[in-house]
Amino acid sequence: MPVNLKAATKVYCSTFFNRINPSPCPLCGKSESGALCTDCLRLLARVTGPVCRCGLPHGDTPLPSPDSLPPLCGRCIRQPPAFSASQSPLQYGFPLDALITRYKHKGDLTVERAILPLLAETPLPWPDTDALCPLPVHWRRRWRRGFDQGARLANLMGDCWQRPVLPALVRQRHTPSQQGLTRHQRQRNLRQAFRCQHSVTGLRLILVDDVMTTGSSARAAAQCLLDQGAKDVRVWTLARTLPPSLA
Ligand SMILES: [Zn+2]
Ligand SMILES: [Zn+2]
Repeated sequence: MPVNLKAATKVYCSTFFNRINPSPCPLCGKSESGALCTDCLRLLARVTGPVCRCGLPHGDTPLPSPDSLPPLCGRCIRQPPAFSASQSPLQYGFPLDALITRYKHKGDLTVERAILPLLAETPLPWPDTDALCPLPVHWRRRWRRGFDQGARLANLMGDCWQRPVLPALVRQRHTPSQQGLTRHQRQRNLRQAFRCQHSVTGLRLILVDDVMTTGSSARAAAQCLLDQGAKDVRVWTLARTLPPSLA
């Protein structure tokens, strides 16, 4: 595996200074704990209420009965995802988008410390889970960034939830950008994008990533794990992109 020394050094230095150097709230500059201050935490929109299997909230749609499972959204009825459930504590939008951009594209790992209290209070949504599996990026993207946010988040959540992390998947096809493609083109692009490199037979897994937008990557990754014998796959992402009607 090639190593991007410049990116790796940046990540190492960021982690090191992060430990020894108290930093202010990354959004407003107040407080000294390095975590998001309570005012900024309040700005982060939560995903509330019952959600579809794809993690989209149902808005004001009434549920058929208090004990029944939430109904599926239009897309999941037409095309049920391979994963059986998904959950995200936060909506993707301002100001979280700014934090995630700093994290992913500028390699600012202080963001992890900023959201750690929030992660620590997030309960494990499915207690029968055997292991967490990061949704991997292609090695070329990891090489450019110097780190893989899905893997780092999976490790943080594994600590919070006391579950092992199993990096079972590798991304074997570089899918440069999914933007501007039709759903059909995206699916074709993602088919065989993942390969399973560990035994997952009989395991109940949670796929972990930072943001779920269309869910196409998670669908393809979940299918790959199920094809390899996983018993169940659910998806947890830090944030979910909601359509404007639900945001
Ligand atoms: Zn703040
Ligand atoms: Zn859905």
